[in-house]
Amino acid sequence: MATKYCYLFSEGNANMRELLGGKGANLAEMTNIGLPVPQGFTITTEACTQYYEDGGISEEIQKEINEYIVKMEGITGKKFGDKENPLLVSVRSGARASMPGMMDTILNLGLNETVVNTIAEKSNNPRWAWDCYRRFIQMYSDVVMEVGKKYFEELIDKMKEEKGVTQDVELTAEDLKVLAGQFKAEYKAKIGVDFPDDPKEQLMGAIKAVFRSWDNPRANVYRRDNDIPFSWGTAVNVQSMAFGNMGDDCGTGVAFTRDPATGEKKLMGEFLTNAQGEDVVAGVRTPMPIQQMAETFPEAFAQFKEVCQTLENHYHDMQDMEFTVENKKLYMLQTRNGKRTAQAALKIACDLVDEGMKTEQEAVAMIDPRNLDTLLHPQFDAKALKAAEPVGKGLGASPGAACGKIVFTADDAVEWAEKGEKVVLVRLETSPEDITGMKAAQGILTVRGGMTSHAAVVARGMGECCVSGCGDIKMDEANKKFELGGKTFVEGDYISIDGTTGNIYDGIIPTVDAQIAGEFGRIMAWADKYRTLKVRTNADTPADAKKARELGAEGIGLCRTEHMFFEADRIAAFREMICADTVEEREAALAKIEPMQQADFEALYEALEGCPVTIRFLDPPLHEFVPTEEADIKALADAQGKSVEDIKALIAGLHEFNPMMGHRGCRLAVTYPEIAKMQTAAVIKAAINVQKKHADWNVKPEIMIPLVGDVKELKFVKKVVVETADAVIAEAGSDLKYEVGTMIEIPRAALTADEIAANADFFCFGTNDLTQMTYGFSRDDAGKFLGAYYDKKIFENDPFAKLDQVGVGKLMEMAIKLGKPVNPNLHCGICGEHGGDPTSVEFCHKIGLDYVSCSPFRVPIARLAAAQAAIKENK
Ligand code: PEP
Ligand code: MG
Repeated sequence: MATKYCYLFSEGNANMRELLGGKGANLAEMTNIGLPVPQGFTITTEACTQYYEDGGISEEIQKEINEYIVKMEGITGKKFGDKENPLLVSVRSGARASMPGMMDTILNLGLNETVVNTIAEKSNNPRWAWDCYRRFIQMYSDVVMEVGKKYFEELIDKMKEEKGVTQDVELTAEDLKVLAGQFKAEYKAKIGVDFPDDPKEQLMGAIKAVFRSWDNPRANVYRRDNDIPFSWGTAVNVQSMAFGNMGDDCGTGVAFTRDPATGEKKLMGEFLTNAQGEDVVAGVRTPMPIQQMAETFPEAFAQFKEVCQTLENHYHDMQDMEFTVENKKLYMLQTRNGKRTAQAALKIACDLVDEGMKTEQEAVAMIDPRNLDTLLHPQFDAKALKAAEPVGKGLGASPGAACGKIVFTADDAVEWAEKGEKVVLVRLETSPEDITGMKAAQGILTVRGGMTSHAAVVARGMGECCVSGCGDIKMDEANKKFELGGKTFVEGDYISIDGTTGNIYDGIIPTVDAQIAGEFGRIMAWADKYRTLKVRTNADTPADAKKARELGAEGIGLCRTEHMFFEADRIAAFREMICADTVEEREAALAKIEPMQQADFEALYEALEGCPVTIRFLDPPLHEFVPTEEADIKALADAQGKSVEDIKALIAGLHEFNPMMGHRGCRLAVTYPEIAKMQTAAVIKAAINVQKKHADWNVKPEIMIPLVGDVKELKFVKKVVVETADAVIAEAGSDLKYEVGTMIEIPRAALTADEIAANADFFCFGTNDLTQMTYGFSRDDAGKFLGAYYDKKIFENDPFAKLDQVGVGKLMEMAIKLGKPVNPNLHCGICGEHGGDPTSVEFCHKIGLDYVSCSPFRVPIARLAAAQAAIKENK
């Protein structure tokens, strides 16, 4: 049977989002449950995939689209391009997951001068007719032909100036007609051909534009950040128009059934009379709060409130809706599970459990772990905030604290951020082109736009602080400055913005760490109840370890001991060790370091309160530690009783062509066993001391040997470790237990994991190096070509951030399958960066790892992702 590419709204349902996209599936569902939806059809995501395969919309698909237009004409009793009763439609994209950054909407498609004249006359409302037409030309030119909005906006501003008015709605039918003519001339000047009059040509152009927008750079960035594969494609919705711009008994609005910023259970939204959808979102006019609709449109408002209730009860989640009122009659244009801040997500999930709408598992499953990040980042210090006087106030559009230097363009935000500056992006209003800049900034401040403006919606999705609609700002974008509260702010000045209250402050306000409490604590407790994977942390300092414990870490999965050597008081001794000529000299230097290491480890065990601590022995190539400054070289020479030249020669001798594959990892311990001896003694002595102090703890160090590729390397180093450890334990008369395991981070180790497992108590996958060596990509240089890989669709993600499950993952699975039968007690974890990435955590759960280990701030993310993996599996 031939593939079906189009579905009437009456043919679909909410379960068909893969095929119909979120918007299409929900339009179908709303149709099914009897809500007032202007009818139309959805062109499937498969048509989009086919578009990319064929390099255009095939004749077969075009034919089916035309058949569905005929069906739509039958349903509405209107006809495309008809002089008597013309059909006008909206064309909107709609992927499986909602995606800002893609083409969104074209309204009023089907208009040409003949049709405009018809509807002007028939409706006796020429102003409306010409308003629709000029909007259509503007949107079509912008999104289909990519002419850019700016030219048209300039023409509108010019017209308003000539007419002495400030609002679009004050322009007359005649003004709008003139504008439409100017727009068409502008179109011809830019594109070189006349603006299309044929509705079918317009429609195919618009559909093509939606498909094309699936592959625009903004969409690609968004997809990468949100784990949305290119292969999903987008659907296109063709819907008959309901008009909110026919006069004062019309309007359009957007609303959420609960507050998307706080989660509070109250209807939130905005409404504009005599307007079309994009007016609300673009922030061109300031909308009124939805509650005011009760006065202006009492019947439509009462009906809308009922619809909200119906939709929440139906979807069991907070809904984000778009609607239009045409001649007092309500039409629903969209519903979806609303985007929300992390804070709101937690509150809504808990409330839905309390209201009996969701189970605990469902509540855990509905939270995007990546969103938690915002809650874990610093907030303004309450005391400092109280003492500070705001210079202005906008809308608290997306919570959080942002403090940084002012920049005025998205490009500057990216550029400054790359240089390590923290910036706040200040704009009149944002548009999808600004996405990368918004991401690079700490926060966003806009002059225009409400809670549903582009800036607000996108910032919330990104979990980034945003204050929108601060109309008091007198903006001078061209000169990169603005005035607020009697002060002129220029590029580079510090500013602080509070995305919860909307307050804006001059200068820097100190921030404090976040806490896991309230709803956050409740959700995390449920997550812990349902997950089976343990979560440890990568921590090298007691402070990090403590933070990670507070955030729920159940142990340390990786302590990179080398980080301890960089401290000012020990780097000198470490350099002496590197520059030693003889074993005796080296041992003398190591003897200086040992008590410091021991103290470090004691502090770590204390912070972990008896939870397991994995200590990885020295790993990086030694040249990373040698001095580069003349004065430091001289100091080292003096300490060693050597000449500066000798030291320089020694440093030069450490040079390697491929340091990542050079003298590092267990190769250091093979060359200089005394380093492993010192580290073992420090680990064991520290453990004995802390165990003595806390009889109720079970202090059990796990010594981890890095970069093993051959079992003989492991055997050699392990022998050194065991002999040293057993001697220390015996001398102390202790019964301390310890483990010796290895990282699996070289492909050969994974391939020979059975041999290795016979000699290891545990495996820990070092997926940073394992990815580097499996792909043969330098982990420090891959950034230089990944951009090209994304452009050419070779990669959709950075394999160093998101685990390559097909290749690297296969090695991990193989290692577990080979290792466990040989050593049934073998425990396995992961400590590469992937241990904190939600999809990678899910994979780790599936292949049967015992734990993941990640940086402290990602611990709650990993806990939630682990719970979601277990819940998904049980479903
Ligand atoms: C790894 O390689 O994944 C790892 C955790 O070790 P490092 O990043 O220190 O090389
Ligand atoms: Mg490594």
